[in-house]
Amino acid sequence: MIIAIDGPAASGKSTSARRVAKQLDFLYLDTGAMYRCVTLAFLDQGIAFSDLAAVERILESIEVNLSDENGEPAAYVNGKNVTDKIRSVEITSNVSPVSAIREVRTAMVRLQRKIASKSDCVMEGRDIGTVVFPNADVKIFLVADAEIRAKRRQDDLRALGEMKSVEELVKEIEARDAYDSTREHSPLQKAEDAIEIDTSNMTIDEQVSKMIEIVNQQKENNEKL
Ligand code: C5P
Repeated sequence: MIIAIDGPAASGKSTSARRVAKQLDFLYLDTGAMYRCVTLAFLDQGIAFSDLAAVERILESIEVNLSDENGEPAAYVNGKNVTDKIRSVEITSNVSPVSAIREVRTAMVRLQRKIASKSDCVMEGRDIGTVVFPNADVKIFLVADAEIRAKRRQDDLRALGEMKSVEELVKEIEARDAYDSTREHSPLQKAEDAIEIDTSNMTIDEQVSKMIEIVNQQKENNEKL
């Protein structure tokens, strides 16, 4: 079973999707973390995003691994732990242009499908229900008010020792959503058959319950068929 969870930046996807996966005993895959890992590799090697030969060279050699360590998500690039690094302001401000590169998407989507072929999976991102798994069993699209999303992002940054104002973060989040929604390849878009949840006034517990309710409903429908 594939559960696809999409939505704009900081809409509550990661925390709730991870908990849903844990509750169902499904694999959890944060595809945004994969694009962040690629962005880190590009920046570390100082390549220009327009240099396609260099982009392809890195994509051929990069090894991205996401895992769960003591209940916390961890990310590795070529064996190096980059869990905190990929959440930095620098990566966040460069990840959208990197994700818009067709070759990057092709490589990541291939990896995402391979990982999900081995197990039931909760996969979250921007194009899971539209491109990666258009036939996903359950599709959920999370949205939330921009200011609330900015406050959530501010809390995440504070935990990393970085500080930004809510106003600044609203601008950044809206700019990233605009970039992700208008790019040529696999833009952020709600799949026609996705169920939308507005998480603005919901606690994480409420989001998780709602998502589990949707999954159970789908399972019942499948059994009736
Ligand atoms: O989910 P997160 O905010 O970590 O995603 C970081 C970025 O990765 C997004 O802004 C988007 O540019 C890109 N992304 C994507 N496709 C996905 C997941 C993330 O293009 N499936």
